[in-house]
Amino acid sequence: MAKMYYENEISKEALAGQTVAIVGYGSQGRAHAMNLKESGFDVVVGLYEGSPSVKRAEADGLKVMSVSDAARAANVVMILVPDERQKKVYDEGIAEHMTAGKSLVFAHGFNIHFGQIVPPADVDVYLIAPKGPGHLVRRVYEEGRGVPALVAIHQDASGKALDKALAYAAGIGAARAGVLETTFKEETETDLFGEQAVLCGGATELVKAGFDTLVEAGYQKEIAYFECLHELKLIVDLLYEGGFENMRFSVSDTAEYGDYMIGKRIINENTRAEMKKVLSEIQNGDFARAWIEENEKGRPIFNKIKAAELEHPIVETGKNLRSMMSWIKQSEVK
Ligand code: NDP
Ligand code: MG
Ligand code: MG
Repeated sequence: MAKMYYENEISKEALAGQTVAIVGYGSQGRAHAMNLKESGFDVVVGLYEGSPSVKRAEADGLKVMSVSDAARAANVVMILVPDERQKKVYDEGIAEHMTAGKSLVFAHGFNIHFGQIVPPADVDVYLIAPKGPGHLVRRVYEEGRGVPALVAIHQDASGKALDKALAYAAGIGAARAGVLETTFKEETETDLFGEQAVLCGGATELVKAGFDTLVEAGYQKEIAYFECLHELKLIVDLLYEGGFENMRFSVSDTAEYGDYMIGKRIINENTRAEMKKVLSEIQNGDFARAWIEENEKGRPIFNKIKAAELEHPIVETGKNLRSMMSWIKQSEVK
């Protein structure tokens, strides 16, 4: 059972009087900065010159500085720029200000775990990873509740890294829900595995394979879209609210019988063997090396596949059908 911490056992003392620099003001950055500020922390935001996020942070009443000035001014530096940019941002604007006693903090362990950022030995290095997107972290905080978070310690120079991490977690509201202890290795590897095998890679290929099978068999694309993509939300909502048992309680007995009889033929022993292989490539660093190299080359493979995916008939079909459903909040991706 994972070690859990709750608000009543956390003291914010470990970060008392400390200034927190939030570097980046996107999904997580905005939520962390605003929640911490309202929890009584002294917060500054670090952004690059010309960043569209500057206006937003200033409109929210926050003090914005260059990354370098923010890192100099702060005791706690939270890096919330996209993972693939963190090494450059750290090397160019943060590293020289990571003096003894400061904290270097992350919301995802990738750059520390895979050795892209190597902080000096005399700073605390920890992670606070909310289990939800930034807008939820912010909204739930405003409602007086919190989104649970993971904490992990990579380096405990002060002997107080865990206290500091928990104080930060309390500041963003996470301790109202519960804070789970993990390691950088576990957080990074399970996050990558989840998004690759199940959430993003697994789910989209499953939907596409179902859609293609129906369309190739002569069924209408629109019907295939409804059955294989649109209705997935209904199922995911039931899973989210009450697990497998809730979903199986709500669907028809015919659907439940089909689930038991057919699911294992789709996700079979081969799929499970491939999942193990995918996990081993995450663990041995092959995936991280490939992704870092892909970014260094300007993302040739990423861009090619991204363009090809947009040509799949499910894209056009979905666009047309969603425009008929006025209740769906339309997110137009450019
Ligand atoms: P976003 O892409 O939403 O935001 C990135 C922010 O960084 C933007 O404000 C962007 O500014 C700014 N930025 C980009 N480049 C620089 C730079 N060179 N210097 C300073 N600021 C820069 O990121 P996320 O919030 O999604 O991710 C941040 C971290 O949080 C990542 O480590 C991620 O893994 C982690 N995380 C994310 C979750 C999520 O749900 N999104 C959940 C849990 C963890 P501009 O847009 O103006 O260019
Ligand atoms: Mg991830
Ligand atoms: Mg049906």
